[in-house]
Formats: sequence, C-alpha cells, structure tokens
Amino acid sequence: MKSTLFRNDIKGIKTVVVKTGSRILTCSGHELRVKNLVDDLATIHHSGVKVILVSSGAIARGMSALNLQKRPEDIPLQQACASIGQNGLMNLYQQHFTKQNILIGQVLLTWDDLRNKKRYLNLRNTLFQLLECGCIPIVNENDSVGIEEIQFGNNDVLGAQIALLTHADLFVNLTDVGGLYDKNPQKSADARHIPLVPMTSSSVQKFACDKKNNLSVGGMSTKIKAAEMVTKAGIPTLIGNGFDSNLLSVIKDKNSATLFMPSPKKMPSKDRWLAFAGQSRGKIVVDQGACSAIKNRGKSLLAAGIIDTCDNFKTGDMVDIVCIDGSPIAKGLVNFSSSEIQLIRGCNTKKLREKLGKIRFDEVILRDNMVVV
Ligand code: GLU
Repeated sequence: MKSTLFRNDIKGIKTVVVKTGSRILTCSGHELRVKNLVDDLATIHHSGVKVILVSSGAIARGMSALNLQKRPEDIPLQQACASIGQNGLMNLYQQHFTKQNILIGQVLLTWDDLRNKKRYLNLRNTLFQLLECGCIPIVNENDSVGIEEIQFGNNDVLGAQIALLTHADLFVNLTDVGGLYDKNPQKSADARHIPLVPMTSSSVQKFACDKKNNLSVGGMSTKIKAAEMVTKAGIPTLIGNGFDSNLLSVIKDKNSATLFMPSPKKMPSKDRWLAFAGQSRGKIVVDQGACSAIKNRGKSLLAAGIIDTCDNFKTGDMVDIVCIDGSPIAKGLVNFSSSEIQLIRGCNTKKLREKLGKIRFDEVILRDNMVVV
C-alpha cells in the first residue's frame, strides 16, 4: 500500500511532515477540504507512514469569530485571534480524526524553542514520543505569546524546521496553487507548471509570484526558502495544491505539485541545528588560508587564521565564521570568548598557553562543532 501512495521519484518514506495554509482551512468550502485532508492524512498514517501536520489557520479562524474581514495589523489583536481560533482549529481536527480513530497531540512553538538547544532536543523527544504513541502531532506557531523576535513569521519556515528536526523523509507544503509556475497562473493562462526543481537555487526565486491576501502571511518565496532549507539537509520537498486538489494527489500526481529534489547527502542532526535553528551571537573574521582550510580541507578553526571578532560572545556560543569581505563560510560553537580571541588572534597554537595560561582546547572551533554554509 505504502509504495503506491507516493510518486516514483520519492521512495522509502517513513515520516512525512505536511504543512497546510490558512486559506485551505478557512475559505468557503473548507468543511469538505478539512475532511478530505484528514481522510488523506489518515490513509497515509494507516499505511504505516508517520505523519506530522503543521497547521496554520488559528488567526484566520479567530478573525472570523470576531467578524474581522482583514488580518489586523495590531499584534495583540492578532494574538487574541490566534488564541480564540486555535481552539476551534483543534476542535475541528479532533472531530475528524476521531472518526478515523486517530489520536492527535497539539504542539505550539516559538523560535525560542528551537534556538535553545536543550528545548530543541526536548521538543524532538516529545514529537518522537507522540509518533511512537501512534498519534499525529499537530504543530502551530504559539502566536498568542510570540512577539516579533521570537516569531517564525509564517508556518512555511515552521514546517521546514519540523521536517529538519524530526528527520522526515518528505516535506509537503500545501497551498492554493499547484506548485511553481513560470508565470503567475492566476493571471496568465499560458503559465507553465514546473514539475521538478533539480537543485533549489536562488534562480527559482524569480518564479515566486507572491500575492498578499487578507488571511495569511507568506507566499511562494517563503515556500521556496523553506524548500531550500529542507532540501539542503537531504529531504525532498513538494509544494502542491491543497485547495482545489487533495493531499493524496499532491504526493502522487506530478501535475498538482512541484518536487524539489534534495541534496544527495543527509545532514546530521547536530549540523541541522547549527545551520538552521541556532542563533549566532557574533562573528569571527578569518584570513584566506583559514577560509580555504575550512571550506576545502575540512579543518577546524585555529587562532592563527583569525583576523578579528565582531560582537561580544561567550565560550559555547554559536558564531558565524566569515571571510574578510564579510561572506559567510561556516557556523560553529566557539571554545573561547570574544575577549580571549582578541588576545590570541593570529597566534600559533604554542603561543595560546603563553597568552591565556591554562587552555582546554587548541582549536577555536572544532570541526565536529562546525557546519559549512
Ligand atoms: N500561525 C498562523 C496561524 O495559525 C499562521 C501563519 C501563516 O499563515 O503562515 O494563523
């Protein structure tokens, strides 16, 4: 059964993360759309594939409960909408999933839960445990507590983060168009559908015809950015139509989706956190020699190659490693504080002890704690 659900070019799917947007869940006809979505998720789940749903729709449902036609600009009002709407959203899912005999678990998150490594790992354990219990976790942003700097901004990035965190084998991003087109399909009848993107690169961003609407945030460009993150880590991504089409068609039918092919190498968990979730506390500027040793020869960062630091950071913080022209090379967990690095920059390893006394590491950033970006 499992093998016939997915298109031939995405094989061996054990865990899938599906993200659905607000319009799918709230615009006219949503009763049938939600039922169909849940039925399709149930089919995938009953076939033995683990399923996680990332669902928007809290703010939009809250808006409708409060008779608001337009998404409010005012943050507290958006948060009130989310608080009211999230209940309704979960109630709706609960009703439909109960009919399918499937338990669901609600998980609400802010960026802080991912930036903090301990919370990131706890969250991973919770999601794995929910899957182990046979549940479908339903994840949304915790909009009623999220203030600007801890907000994801849109659920495309949240969906990508959940796919990365749970080592999913597929990320499906459901929207109201059938994926990527060379022109806006709602404006040009001759718009051509792009069924396959071999390697996500900034060149496909030109096809992102974003449109604003009154219900949701994010458009095709945030979906491409999310696909870029996920495929870099080795996970294929489908962007497809969950509005006029069904999830099962999106995962099976080339014409209702665009498949973004992944990088052939799966990125290990700790690299995923460094590359996509951790927050940099500062920068280390390195010379050409260190730049090439890190990029081309898989080396650790030594004090000898360091030219300067920016911002104050502590031992154990995550920092960006950049070239002299400011271009990013890598991210990593640093073994010395910025003030210690100011004393040892340019020094060879022997001199570190002279300058700092007792030291725990010869390397400023160990290769094992670094990811090249
Ligand atoms: N978390 C928001 C909600 O549930 C949606 C954000 C988005 O539209 O991507 O309403």
